[in-house]
Amino acid sequence: MDLLSTLVDKGLRRELPTREEALAVLATSDDELLDVVAAAGKVRRQWFGRRVKLNYLVNLKSGLCPEDCSYCSQRLGSEAGILKYTWLKPGEAAEAAAAGVAGGAKRVCLVASGRGPTDRDVERVSETIAAIRERHADVEVCACLGLLSQGQAERLREAGADAYNHNLNTSEATYADICTTHGYEDRVATVEQAKSAGLSACSGLIAGMGESDEDLVDVVFALRELDPDSVPVNFLIPFEGTPLAQEWNLTPQRALRILAMTRFVCPDVEVRLAGGREVHLRSLQPLALHLVNSIFLGDYLTSEGQAGKADLDMIADAGFEVEGTETTTLPEHRDPRDELRGDLVSVRRRGAGTELPPNA
Ligand code: SF4
Repeated sequence: MDLLSTLVDKGLRRELPTREEALAVLATSDDELLDVVAAAGKVRRQWFGRRVKLNYLVNLKSGLCPEDCSYCSQRLGSEAGILKYTWLKPGEAAEAAAAGVAGGAKRVCLVASGRGPTDRDVERVSETIAAIRERHADVEVCACLGLLSQGQAERLREAGADAYNHNLNTSEATYADICTTHGYEDRVATVEQAKSAGLSACSGLIAGMGESDEDLVDVVFALRELDPDSVPVNFLIPFEGTPLAQEWNLTPQRALRILAMTRFVCPDVEVRLAGGREVHLRSLQPLALHLVNSIFLGDYLTSEGQAGKADLDMIADAGFEVEGTETTTLPEHRDPRDELRGDLVSVRRRGAGTELPPNA
């Protein structure tokens, strides 16, 4: 059986491809690209139909980070021309979130720069979650605040967060090349903490930082083992003023192969097209919708994405549909917490604020 038929069969059975098969996807030629997209598209449709989940980023705190992640415009000493500000007030953040929800977002991602939150920061974010919940009871809230200390994941869960994002970003072997102020194992530990607290884990990668195909396969296999519910795939935006400013080494075709490989390795997981899609996929973005089932809507973090309206038009033109809050994103077999989330939504609908059901 040829490579693509094998990968489709495995994806439909939720079976892990071999490393060689994953590497072979990255090595396919441009002549084979549409076949690769069509094959991974079958796997995507099996588990997610033609639905696209929209996510909206609210940047609670920007810049001024003491860490030295080389891809990041908010790093220590970054000369990138980004906005720098400290914590948005809960009302301001809820106002920003409302714009995304109005555009169709079902998840709001609350992001703050920094190594990790203090306990006071967790309190601030808890107040922000409450302010968002007051207006949008059904929206999913994901926090992305860096490395977590003991007990913080539990406090965020109690405050009503549904998910926690912390990316592995690259392979364990190359992690020290992109960051010296914390390690790969610190990132894994935070994702594990979020999972143990009952938060839906979101963890992904950044492609285009000069890594090899083996590194990409390593990080995607590591993610499969860590088993997050969502995997954001970012493509490096080489910001001027950061050490990776010269790393323009992705093509739209390579970006599609990376997304297809991720889909084959993580067939029934929410694969999200994240940062850098406009600059790297450019006019091929609609093809990516056959591979991912989730995107960020409009602007995100320190770069400008497409306006929300352009995203919605692209989704409709490509024959996909925006996923509503009444639909569960993950296939039924994947998420034993669906029942709990269902309870939570009905508690919120009854006007009980962020109170958790007794078995949370
Ligand atoms: S810890 Fe986060 S905000 Fe700070 S430099 Fe790294 S990626 Fe950027």
